[in-house]
Amino acid sequence: MRQALLAVVLLLPQGNRRADPFAPARLRATVSFLASDEMRGRGTGSPEGKMAAEWIAERFEKIGLEPANNGSFFHEFRFGGKECRNVAGILRAPPPAREFVVVGAHHDHLGGIGKTIYPGVDDNASGVAGVLALAEHFAARKKGLKRHMVFVSYDAEEKGLIGSKRFVGHGVIAIDKTVFMLVFDLIGGVFLPGQEQRVYALGSEHSKAVRAVLEQHRKAEALEAIPLGTYLIEPVGPAFARSDYSAYRAKHVPYLFMTAATPWYYHTPFDRPERLDYEKASRTLGIARAILADIVTSTKPLDFVAKPAGEVQDARDLVRMIESVLERQKELRISERRAGTLRAHVERLAKLTATDELGGRGKRACQMAIMDLLRVARSYRPPGWKR
Ligand SMILES: [Zn+2]
Repeated sequence: MRQALLAVVLLLPQGNRRADPFAPARLRATVSFLASDEMRGRGTGSPEGKMAAEWIAERFEKIGLEPANNGSFFHEFRFGGKECRNVAGILRAPPPAREFVVVGAHHDHLGGIGKTIYPGVDDNASGVAGVLALAEHFAARKKGLKRHMVFVSYDAEEKGLIGSKRFVGHGVIAIDKTVFMLVFDLIGGVFLPGQEQRVYALGSEHSKAVRAVLEQHRKAEALEAIPLGTYLIEPVGPAFARSDYSAYRAKHVPYLFMTAATPWYYHTPFDRPERLDYEKASRTLGIARAILADIVTSTKPLDFVAKPAGEVQDARDLVRMIESVLERQKELRISERRAGTLRAHVERLAKLTATDELGGRGKRACQMAIMDLLRVARSYRPPGWKR
């Protein structure tokens, strides 16, 4: 096993300073390694999960990050009777910098269930590849930083966002000096045909400053990052958050959660390297890089809005999304019944777009619409798909 693993490591592009860290081929190499057979789906607290963490720590070191946890790249904790480990490295800005910006993604996935392995490429080798690429990019620009940058790969996300909760809870870095966090989960996939040029950025409803930066950089060639309210993916409330922004939000740290959402292969054994659009992943990271560059080369304060109002643009974006799905009713093999439900959503949401802000009912209507879109995505299969 070890030899095979080494062979894969040798195939990866190494230490070439001139190589573009965001090149689609490099992103593909990273996710293919993390999703290789030897990694067995990186189950939380498994030997393979541990191996993935070690590999990420080695990459951090090669890139030139310093260990973020008292001389170690690892932040270890026990969960469910297992040893788990977050990996964290820091890029120190020159004095007098005091504040931190955190960039993270989780590396654990579902592991093997019976004989079936869940490789977890989109979820979330894609996000880890993004963290590594950004670390490499900013390491070469360290002297221009005005805020320290912390790059984190979380463990035990799949068990209830445990890694990020412990990371924040144990004070690995000073949370009161953390001014922004960015998290990737599932970047580079295509949620549904028609959504190729879209990625979603949730969380900017909590900060006017973050929204302004996002608005400035939301387009990268044809790709667009659509700002959405986080409540949309939390129909049961914030206690059931969907990714690692949750612990930071609870501490009032402004954040962005970038994701291309959950396509049909989400949490199935078919979440494999060939499913991703690496150009899209690369462009998504281009947007993230521009946003981060603004924030880490400035000391301008970022506000936090604890209880944001529901924004009408959420309803507007959902209408656009549902209409594009309905245009492809045949291709997506959507039943008449479901199409009827979707049309009813459009009608309801269109009325909301005439108001100033979404109240509780409006937000609920948007959540219901998203749930139906997720249902459409879950039952979709690409043309010619065979198990
Ligand atoms: Zn997952």
